[in-house]
Amino acid sequence: SKFVVGLTGGIGSGKTTVANLFAAEGVALVDADIVAREVVAPGSKGLEAIVTHFGAEILTPEGELDRAKLRQRIFSHPKEREWLNQLLHPMIRQEMLAQVEKATSAYVIMVVPLLFENGLDRLVNRTLVVDISPELQINRTVKRDNVDASQVNNIISSQCSRSEKLARADDIIDNQGEISTLKREVLALHQRYLQLSGTDNA
Ligand code: ATP
Repeated sequence: SKFVVGLTGGIGSGKTTVANLFAAEGVALVDADIVAREVVAPGSKGLEAIVTHFGAEILTPEGELDRAKLRQRIFSHPKEREWLNQLLHPMIRQEMLAQVEKATSAYVIMVVPLLFENGLDRLVNRTLVVDISPELQINRTVKRDNVDASQVNNIISSQCSRSEKLARADDIIDNQGEISTLKREVLALHQRYLQLSGTDNA
């Protein structure tokens, strides 16, 4: 089976930016956020189960999952949240692994914002953490999303801490500098992963 690198990092750290640099080298990406939407797309088993549980009022008029409504329904109901996680987490896991096996590149980058929080590091051969300071996380996210610094701060607090992520990382990319520096770091890691995946498959 395939060599998989789990790419993670806090909000606004640069996961998407880094993933796109690997993709430019021909590396296949499996994105947990995209998979999480696929498993509840119209016609999916996931959406069917959610409608059976919460009722059809959980759908938009177009028949899509109303995410805002679902968030409301689970917000102060830990049991409902738990039910939803037990439904979706195995589906997401299974679909991510299926996409990994379909990939044809030498190795695969799995982009998972909550890699450690959700225990998905168990699915990968190696973990790569994109690291920036909380100050830069706030600056870049505020600039990108036009949101309040306090909102970003709340999200940072809800995620696994910078020090814990760094302690659990096999590899770390420092993304506090220029994009040109980032590109060099990615190219070096790409060479390393090509070597590791070759050894792994031999
Ligand atoms: P999220 O978890 O919130 O989806 P992310 O980890 O995927 O975020 P990106 O969207 O890649 O992060 O980056 C956050 C913002 O910072 C983007 O607007 C991106 O263009 C910018 N950015 C990324 N790296 C750098 C850098 N080295 N210098 C300046 N800006 C950067």
